[in-house]
Amino acid sequence: MAVLTIKNVYKRYDDTEKKLGKKKEKRPYAVKDLSFTCPDKSFVGILGPSGCGKSTTLRMIAGLEKITDGDMFIDDVRINDLLPKDRNIGLAFEDYALYPPLTVYDNLAFNLRAKKTPEQLVKQAIDKIAPLMRVEELLTMRPNALSGGQKQRVNIARAIIRQPGLLLLDEPLSHLDGKMRQTLRHEIKRMHREIECTTIIVTHDQIEAMSIADIIVIMKNAELQQMGTPMEVYDHPVNEFVAGFIGEPPMNLLKSTIAKTQDGFFFTFENSDLRVRVPAKYSGAIKDGMNLTCGVRPMDVHITDDKTLPPAPVAIYENFGDERRVSVRVGEGLLNLTTAEDIHYDPEDIIRLAFDENKTHLFDAQTGDAIRV
Ligand code: ADP
Ligand code: MG
Repeated sequence: MAVLTIKNVYKRYDDTEKKLGKKKEKRPYAVKDLSFTCPDKSFVGILGPSGCGKSTTLRMIAGLEKITDGDMFIDDVRINDLLPKDRNIGLAFEDYALYPPLTVYDNLAFNLRAKKTPEQLVKQAIDKIAPLMRVEELLTMRPNALSGGQKQRVNIARAIIRQPGLLLLDEPLSHLDGKMRQTLRHEIKRMHREIECTTIIVTHDQIEAMSIADIIVIMKNAELQQMGTPMEVYDHPVNEFVAGFIGEPPMNLLKSTIAKTQDGFFFTFENSDLRVRVPAKYSGAIKDGMNLTCGVRPMDVHITDDKTLPPAPVAIYENFGDERRVSVRVGEGLLNLTTAEDIHYDPEDIIRLAFDENKTHLFDAQTGDAIRV
């Protein structure tokens, strides 16, 4: 069992100041005031764009990087100063780091043998873990003979061979092509269910995080933005960044001015006749003339025949086979929508739009924070 608790953790890479010639000015934080908890047996995805501090966070958990400030605990033990080998963790990174001269079997056995584990127990451990990551057929092969996907299976098998309390995976699927990524995603998920080891995966790919993790921790610029289940961060993003980062194609985020009418509040858009009703629940939080960002997912905008609605010109039409994406001009901006209907448009065709009004999101025009009611 392992509960990981991260409390107000900061990381600043100071040792590189000289190399960069920045003697006076300190480097910015790579991780800033980060706090979150991974419950026992959970599968947590740390998600964010490149450079936001994901790997640094994972490396601090692993003990490969010093914590500048704050505390980390595994269960009730403060781990800040524990050596990596004393943390009971398994690690698998994007690079496979298998030993080329050794067979897969010997690669898996390596850390156990280093700990003077008797051969019989080594074999027992490999017999147990090899089927979990589907590497039984590969045991006599050497790493060079393996495909990328096979190498990563072996890499993960090696990480879990000692049955760690905490498994840390850093972009384990990033090198792999689409189909293999999907297969391995399922296998990692299945493996996690079977060994019930608290697992953290770092990824910049929101689809990967959404599909594999039970809890997602979203970071940007060294800071936590939101933590929640995949559906929480999808349905209730706390700010424009999360709203735009989760979901493919991304949520539309349109500058809007609120107009109050006898019929309630509406989003209006500069140089456009389009009006979208604001859900009544926001009435107490908004005012006539207020500037806001209107967020709406492409799948929540529909094409309608209702001629009473204002015309909207098509700018871009793309056919993905199972889905069509249409971009419509709204004032100076574009609004994207997706549809499964078999329709074709040319640029400048006129269509009309209906919105799932209750699925619109409101964000503060200055801070980008979601308006909550
Ligand atoms: P991510 O994994 O989210 O892409 P990282 O944690 O690797 O991001 O990096 C976060 C920030 O810390 C980046 O600005 C990166 O340049 C910096 N950084 C990472 N590793 C080092 C290092 N060893 N020395 C100095 N700066 C580093
Ligand atoms: Mg990284």
